Amino acid sequence: MAVVGVLALQGSFNEHIAALRRLGVKGVEIRKPEQLQNISSLIIPGGESTTMAKLAEFHNLFPALREFVQMGKPVWGTCAGLIFLANKAVGQKEGGQELVGGLDCTVHRNYFGSQIQSFEAELLVPELASKEGGPETFRGVFIRAPAVLEVGPGVEVLADYPIPSNKVLYSSSAVEIQEEYAVPEKKVIVAIKQGNLLGTAFHPELTADTRWHSYFLKMASEVEEGTSNAIVAVSRGDPSSNQQTRYDLPIFL
Ligand code: GLN
Repeated sequence: MAVVGVLALQGSFNEHIAALRRLGVKGVEIRKPEQLQNISSLIIPGGESTTMAKLAEFHNLFPALREFVQMGKPVWGTCAGLIFLANKAVGQKEGGQELVGGLDCTVHRNYFGSQIQSFEAELLVPELASKEGGPETFRGVFIRAPAVLEVGPGVEVLADYPIPSNKVLYSSSAVEIQEEYAVPEKKVIVAIKQGNLLGTAFHPELTADTRWHSYFLKMASEVEEGTSNAIVAVSRGDPSSNQQTRYDLPIFL
């Protein structure tokens, strides 16, 4: 029977477990290497990747996490979790940190700046909308967020974020820039998929929109022999009730 684990060392693991619960799925908190043997897919939450890496090292989790990824088990990293899954991370202040790796990409750890530069944005999510229905956009909550700078050939881009390359100029100038001087938008990648690995630079668990969780559960179910009913459902679970979800507002549980 499939069980979804959530790495529960630090960061927004409770919010992920709550989002899974809203889909009728029980998420299991994972803190020790041996617990990975009891789960068939894993969510690595956002938080602070250096702190999470130190705790993972303390609990000797890195070898078991790498093995989990190499076995082809579905893993979804959000924000700091995406950094964990990347093959390469840049933008560290000191030296770098240990990564799990597996996702063929380079991420910038703090691409969008510090805490005060955190923001929300409506992202175009065609693949998510085609699989999960609902609006064509998803409200991305970016908190000290990373971005994906480069991807390998096997990586599918699921969402990007258009940044006006004249952003700084706009924000530091009271003068409106004439349209003819406007610079074309630059896009950075903020959601990717490679085989059974999923990475999002933003925090879907902090919104009421459970489509990314549902998308990941389907990835996990496809890996399972049999079908999606292999996922453990808790009593209140009726995934179809998700149709009633308010898509617009962030939630904080
Ligand atoms: N940029 C942060 C880091 O380096 C991640 C932020 C987050 O997970 N919200 O860990």
